[in-house]
Amino acid sequence: MTAITLTDVVKTYPPRERGGAPLTAVDGVSLSIAEGEIFGIIGYSGAGKSTLVRLVNALERTTSGSITLDGREITGLRERDLRGVRAGIGMIFQQFNLFSSKTVWGNVEFPLKAAGVPVAEHQRRISELLHFVGLADKAHVRPDQLSGGQKQRVGIARALATSPRLLLADEATSALDPETTQEVLALLRRVNRELGITIVVITHEMDVIKSIADRVAVMDRGRVVETGPTFEVFANPREDSTKRFVSTVVSGAPAGDELAGLRRRHDGTLVTVRLSEGGVDQRQVFGLLTRHEVSFEIVFGGIDEIRGRTFGTLTLALSGDPASVRAAVAELGDAATEIEEA
Ligand code: ADP
Repeated sequence: MTAITLTDVVKTYPPRERGGAPLTAVDGVSLSIAEGEIFGIIGYSGAGKSTLVRLVNALERTTSGSITLDGREITGLRERDLRGVRAGIGMIFQQFNLFSSKTVWGNVEFPLKAAGVPVAEHQRRISELLHFVGLADKAHVRPDQLSGGQKQRVGIARALATSPRLLLADEATSALDPETTQEVLALLRRVNRELGITIVVITHEMDVIKSIADRVAVMDRGRVVETGPTFEVFANPREDSTKRFVSTVVSGAPAGDELAGLRRRHDGTLVTVRLSEGGVDQRQVFGLLTRHEVSFEIVFGGIDEIRGRTFGTLTLALSGDPASVRAAVAELGDAATEIEEA
């Protein structure tokens, strides 16, 4: 069952000034997000991610195209019906958006009141949620006494209060340090696994996608340029914009100044070898070079892993008998790219 289906969704904003051009923030996006998955949407700032989220939670209307949630078409619904749609979606934000004058308890209670949940049920529900996010001892504290990670955990408890089936996280860890980010992501993983809630994570941070998303869509200038299982998109990016993202977390092939520097320091043959499952692994590369009696030095690159599956690139400076070097490079085949002389 699909949780969210977007078909040719377009959102165009009118010109900001008279005589200006309209701006198409979301430009023909089609996506299908399955129930129970953690789906990542990544892209640079301005790519259209937040606009897409506002269309999914019906805070804004599409210019054209269709959006269905749990099989129900939401484009074209009346405002009254949209309120019901929004009630089934939890949201968490970069700046947490907590009420600073309310306690943790009061913040989590707010959506229960708004949804008309009988007061008699509040106590049990709130205490259950605060236990789940590990903040049972902070119930009577105000947000300004909490760390960023704790604030986001309150945000998560509040988002879950009305038992949504879908949670949208818009840059939810972007204001947090790396360690706290991982804690919050671990909590989101529990929300997904233990409560079975579908999660859509919007971020410009590749590390977030890498640690949590089952599948990912890469957005660039309003379009989805690439989509697939996270490992595939990282290990085998097809589009230039995806390659740029990937190179920010895994050092890929050397370029520009890096390459010029390597050239200066190493004479002989430089090759970049792509390591991936189904392709060659490090053992094979080093075994093959040894067999050809080619000596090597690793001069650039990096290896990364997503859930136990490794991928990456290594740039090697090869030396030895020129014929042996040529034979070794030939045997590496498609996995290796020789870096030509500048
Ligand atoms: P992201 O979340 O990926 O940073 P946004 O969805 O916020 O991207 O923005 C996509 C584009 O749409 C940007 O060029 C932004 O300036 C524009 N945009 C977003 N909201 C509005 C709006 N309400 N009116 C006009 N332009 C907007």
